[in-house]
Amino acid sequence: MEVPGSNDIICDFCFAMNPQGAHICEECGAPLVDGKEAGDESDKLVYRDLARANLQRMRGDFAAARETCLSILRRYPNNATTQGLLGDICREQGELGQAKEWYAMALDVRPDDDNVRSRLRETESAMAAQEEALRVKVAEVPRTGGRWFVAGLAVIAVGIAGGAYWLGKNTKPAPAQRPAPIPLGQASTSTAIATEDNTSPPEPLPTVGPELEAERQARAFLAAECQLPESRFLDVEIDPRGNVWRVTVSALPTDDPTTLTLQMLNPGLDGNDAPSMMTVRLVRDGKLLYAADGTRQVRAARGTSLMAAADLQNVWPSGTGASPNQPPPSNPAPSNPEEQSGTTESNNSETPAPNPSEPGSDTAGN
Ligand SMILES: [Zn+2]
Repeated sequence: MEVPGSNDIICDFCFAMNPQGAHICEECGAPLVDGKEAGDESDKLVYRDLARANLQRMRGDFAAARETCLSILRRYPNNATTQGLLGDICREQGELGQAKEWYAMALDVRPDDDNVRSRLRETESAMAAQEEALRVKVAEVPRTGGRWFVAGLAVIAVGIAGGAYWLGKNTKPAPAQRPAPIPLGQASTSTAIATEDNTSPPEPLPTVGPELEAERQARAFLAAECQLPESRFLDVEIDPRGNVWRVTVSALPTDDPTTLTLQMLNPGLDGNDAPSMMTVRLVRDGKLLYAADGTRQVRAARGTSLMAAADLQNVWPSGTGASPNQPPPSNPAPSNPEEQSGTTESNNSETPAPNPSEPGSDTAGN
């Protein structure tokens, strides 16, 4: 057992006592003096093993090179050259974090080793570039935060899919609410009611319930007043904006359109609680046959007498004689005098020619 003398050198890394004049720690290989000589002297202790590890590394046998380095460090834990070599091996294998740690340890032992310092800087910049690339390419991030980010993306994707499904579910009935052709002649009442249930909710969904109920009541009212079966009323639509009723009725071949329309407008527009306007549409064979409007104002002007064909407005088609069985009502009277007193917009009375038929062109070939 050596008794340490007063001039012994204490290793800064392992606190081992080293004899006076020693340049490296006999215990851990750390340099005891500044300068390159101490490092070289430390490497002399492990020269053979260092050469072997470096040869293994250059051959690409990284596992063996690591093991050799670790065996050196087990004997001399603070041999900076071996630490730097381990940093190189880790860096070549893409383990930049471990490489950085080995370089930092080597710089702790030999702070003046500029070679190791530059390799540390290279490693740190490579790590920064790698993190930036991973920040862009989040799918391959091997970090926990990246996984959470990917999981968040998955949750968002599921949410988008669910939202799309919800939207599709809720918007799908909208385009189907207005079928262009209205079928004719629903035989049974139940079928007619089913048809109304499918076709009559054109309003936004939250307001459908009360509107539908009001429309059912309007249908029952009109059917009773007109003495027509409810199945004839294919659609009764109440638009609260302007208090307009829009009634679609199936017309039989024996029906006169004007008479049938007035049959509904006279009771429908009667009274102070009547709608301000009613539109009656007659359909047959899935086609629109006739349409006309009536107003409560005109109906009120008639009083106890009934509205006549002359009181109809916006009659379509304009000829009115759409019924093949009965001749059109031969009273193309001018419109209501009260109407004319109210508005005068008859300054534009040009009538476009509906049939620009060329005379003689049909019979030219014959
Ligand atoms: Zn030591």
